[in-house]
Amino acid sequence: MSDMTRRCWMDGDEPHEECGLFGAFGVPSVAEILYTGLFAQQHRGQEGAGMVVSDGTRLRYHKNPGRVHDIFSPETIRRLAGSHGIGHVRYSTTGASRPQNVQPLVAECVDGLWAIAHNGNLTNAASLRRTYQQSGSIFQTTTDSEVLIHLLADPHYRNRCQHVGRALAELRGAFSFLLMSRDCVMAARDPLGFRPLVIGTLEGGYVFASETCALRQVGANFMRAVEPGELVQVTSRGLASYRFAEVPPRCAQCVFELVYFARPDSNVFGYNVHQTRMQYGMRLAQEHPVQADIVIPIPDSGVSAALGFSRASGIPFDMGFIRNHYVGRTFIMPEQATRARGVDMKLSVMPEVVQGKRVVVVDDSIVRGNTVQRRVAFLREAGAREVHVRISCPPIRHPCFFGIDFATTSELIAATRDVEQIRAYIGADSLGYLSEEGLLASFADGPRKFCKACFNGDYPTDVSQMRGKLDLEDQQAEEE
Ligand code: SF4
Repeated sequence: MSDMTRRCWMDGDEPHEECGLFGAFGVPSVAEILYTGLFAQQHRGQEGAGMVVSDGTRLRYHKNPGRVHDIFSPETIRRLAGSHGIGHVRYSTTGASRPQNVQPLVAECVDGLWAIAHNGNLTNAASLRRTYQQSGSIFQTTTDSEVLIHLLADPHYRNRCQHVGRALAELRGAFSFLLMSRDCVMAARDPLGFRPLVIGTLEGGYVFASETCALRQVGANFMRAVEPGELVQVTSRGLASYRFAEVPPRCAQCVFELVYFARPDSNVFGYNVHQTRMQYGMRLAQEHPVQADIVIPIPDSGVSAALGFSRASGIPFDMGFIRNHYVGRTFIMPEQATRARGVDMKLSVMPEVVQGKRVVVVDDSIVRGNTVQRRVAFLREAGAREVHVRISCPPIRHPCFFGIDFATTSELIAATRDVEQIRAYIGADSLGYLSEEGLLASFADGPRKFCKACFNGDYPTDVSQMRGKLDLEDQQAEEE
């Protein structure tokens, strides 16, 4: 395994996401709609947020590091007058957490201003960037997303939808993109469909979102998903669909969206997230039964699976941990120090619930093992008689190159230890992971629909050019 492939995607015991997209065309007070849609998807990234709007003649934008409600004041929203626009919440999967990396990215090309917002990770960004730099192009950010701006500006690719489609066809890896110009909004998904992107209708216009929870929040009706390899364009003439790539025989939708990333009230890839996690928990109870007094979740992402485990096993469900919702999801805090403090602050155990009990604790995943180790210790200190850990996905043994933050493979506990060794490390009485078969059992034709590379190393696309999160940053630092 090369140095590059030894890099992977998580810190702490939780995966790092990623980004959220929201766009709208032909709706009144578009900035208010974008604000609400981004706010509903804040869980997908808290490092930065931005929006670009158009009134048909000019583009206005506002973006900054931070969370949606800190960045957009009522006055800012009022100034962003228009009827269409796109927005983005960011966790940096490529490029450091610096202000110029906050999206949407805006650039003036020969055919006018363009704005783009990206969710995913481009596996050929470094080589495309090098090619453009060698021919004199200057990059403003250290994100992989900026290569699309350069493709759009390239004379080879001019002429609207056709040229956007040809530019998208140059990209490899995972991407859901929203693009806009003065008079249109476009949405595109990579041919393998790694990241979700859906279309809704609202008051005679259209909206686009990473997750359906955002559609519901703005009062939009779900219309359909943007298909893998499809480019959708909305103008005053309506919605048109183009293909920029043939759909390969298998898709690679990220199964981890269903395990962990997405909000339980979203439907992702056509499946309700809460119900899917319930089924994971039920299957987990069948695969790893245990005699116990209560089932407790690691809130919030373990709740649905714990409910399923309880239902299938007949063991009563209870809340042994209480989350402080004002701390936020630790994994999307960029600084390690903040993250460490957040982990300590985030959950508190309730001795009144666990004392003297045989406890099953259900979580969505284990990354390094340090956080679950601490939580097992908390449960024992609080008087739990036995602690049985159940995980609603298989062991994570391989890096992700498709939109999840990178750490090193050596930090992934399951890359170097078997289940019994992990059990001993975290100090549990027993440990059980959902099998890969169990993960896919809920879906018809699951193996052909989903990426599971972080579990089995079967990458659905070439990752040989893949770079780490800060490699483009390093490249820029050398140039400075
Ligand atoms: S490797 Fe595949 S399944 Fe795992 S997180 Fe990345 S995209 Fe999702």
